[in-house]
Amino acid sequence: MNGSAVWHPFTQHAVEPAMPAIARTDGAYLETHDGRRILDAISSWWVVTHAHRHPRIMDAIRSATETLDQVIFAGLTHEPAEQLASALVAMAPAGLDWVFYSDSGSTSVEVALKMALGFHRNNGLPRSRIVVMEHSYHGDTIGTMSVGARGVFNAAYEPLLFEVDTIAFPAAGREQETLDAFERLTRGREAAALIVEPLVLGAGGMLMYPASVLTELKRIAERSETLFIADEVMTGWGRTGAMFACEQAAIAPDILCTSKGLTGGSLPLAATLATDAIFCAHYSRNRARTFFHSSSYTANPIACAAALANVGIWNDEPVAERVAALSRMQAEKVARFSQDARFENARTTGTIAALDLRVGKAGYLAEVGPRLRAFFLERGLLVRPLGNVIYVLPPYCVTSHELDRLYEAIDEAAELAGDKK
Ligand code: PMP
Repeated sequence: MNGSAVWHPFTQHAVEPAMPAIARTDGAYLETHDGRRILDAISSWWVVTHAHRHPRIMDAIRSATETLDQVIFAGLTHEPAEQLASALVAMAPAGLDWVFYSDSGSTSVEVALKMALGFHRNNGLPRSRIVVMEHSYHGDTIGTMSVGARGVFNAAYEPLLFEVDTIAFPAAGREQETLDAFERLTRGREAAALIVEPLVLGAGGMLMYPASVLTELKRIAERSETLFIADEVMTGWGRTGAMFACEQAAIAPDILCTSKGLTGGSLPLAATLATDAIFCAHYSRNRARTFFHSSSYTANPIACAAALANVGIWNDEPVAERVAALSRMQAEKVARFSQDARFENARTTGTIAALDLRVGKAGYLAEVGPRLRAFFLERGLLVRPLGNVIYVLPPYCVTSHELDRLYEAIDEAAELAGDKK
């Protein structure tokens, strides 16, 4: 866009081609002003679950605006937030009885980290080390970058990032090493918490690991009273096949972060769910033990109404069946690449499919990334590879035929791997 004053996220403007302007969204599609339809194969950064502009969510937003806009959430409350909190507690893994609202995935993780440190401090045990998993991503604020993988994304900010203890990604056949490393780190009882993306590490390259690892990590955490934080910002709301990925490991974390699909992908909202023990550690007549966190837009009523409509959709519509059907389709369709020498690691977890294009230089800055993105966009497909990792993470309304178009394009795109820079 000529004359634009917008500085876009994760965008190198010096090399970015002209950006299409989106005038309309509909189902699995984005539409440009001249009516070009682009299939949103990444759910607009993993937020859209059912479809763009699900009618029930749009109606809920419209009707909420008849009575409410923003209301300060310290000292006051409102129905949409109260109802949503009750619904979230009922849906979440057992024992997560308290809901703290914020407005993005990153803030929900910041809140989780602060809750963990507050818990130990208020209990008279100043444990402050955080254990993280290699290749993790938890957001782009200083705190969330600190607990995420270090690399080109955060090299400039490294001096401000706090130290963490890192356990290896539990790659196939090496799961025990990860568990042993965690066990060693918890022996001194200095770790305040472990934070993980359950089952799928998203921005780290759609890396997948089995639920059994999660179950074991939780067991080790419990033994050493290390809090277990599940960052379900990406994995929640059906993405991995279950409502929350933790369910597949039959675990209940001490703290769970949710955002993205919370409003069906319509409005920014996040929640950090915590156990009663964590709430109680902050509950006191001593005001110094207050949980000191707020954002201006905490529990925005319109966003809460959108999230309530989303919960209603999960309750009344056959969403679980849709998710199961999509998961089956993804597994079937990506399987065609499992023996294809141009690719490796064709994989799925629930509705998420990924595969790595074999290239000379892998990694996020692999030159092939932007070329792939342009190739797909020319074909009306929004695919945003993480370097050489191509993934398909679509809204649940996507059809088998649309997925076929996508995988056909992925097949053709493999030709881009070998050549020039
Ligand atoms: N955690 C995870 C696992 C994520 O995938 C993301 C976003 N991709 C975040 C946290 C940060 O969320 P947000 O961009 O809404 O701040």
